[in-house]
Amino acid sequence: MSVERRGLMFVLSSPSGAGKTTLSRLLIERMPGLRMSVSATTRPMRPGEVDGRDYWFVDQPRFKEMVQHNELLEWATVFDNSYGTPRAPVEAALSAGQDVMFDIDWQGTQQLREKARADVVSVFILPPSAADLEKRLHSRAQDSDAVIRSRMSRATHELSHWAEYDYIVINHDIDEAFAEVQSILKAERLKRERRTGLTTFVRELQLQLEK
Ligand code: 5GP
Repeated sequence: MSVERRGLMFVLSSPSGAGKTTLSRLLIERMPGLRMSVSATTRPMRPGEVDGRDYWFVDQPRFKEMVQHNELLEWATVFDNSYGTPRAPVEAALSAGQDVMFDIDWQGTQQLREKARADVVSVFILPPSAADLEKRLHSRAQDSDAVIRSRMSRATHELSHWAEYDYIVINHDIDEAFAEVQSILKAERLKRERRTGLTTFVRELQLQLEK
């Protein structure tokens, strides 16, 4: 007899430069049963990015069509570009009992929460200090000074949404932050409410014990 469970939606949000990309890569590498949701975006591809792996890079008309045809689970405008989560791969993964991780902003997180409160587990990653965040943004060679400035000002706005999240992780050290995010996922996977078959499992245990 098996105890199974519905897949959960594991959302990681943070201001740019707080280490979220590294954390999500580590989680995908080290946590079986977890897959990354690949968003669609209208922003230009950065050097090193791969279409279909980092994002689905689409033009504005195609993005509009996705919105109109209800192909997106959530979508938002970030830094003048549109970003959204394709619905079909997420629904397929969840119903197969797989967990899906989302690297989306607070606007997308709010939309997911409204649609599927019970399935959403949200984690906000904080940088240890403003200086640390600034340093990480500057070390991303691919972004221009103007882009960095706009990311810093957006970071302040993004930060203001921290209290909407279930868990807060402060990224002082990447290994420690990874261990914390991993424990959140492990504990959430064990939650009674999202597991099916437990009643029958326990009943059988009781019957065997009564024999
Ligand atoms: P970047 O352009 O640096 O890859 O991402 C910029 C911001 O867009 C990040 O905060 C990221 O979390 C957010 N983002 C990426 N994909 C999505 C998405 O599908 N939906 C929403 N709402 N935000 C997204």
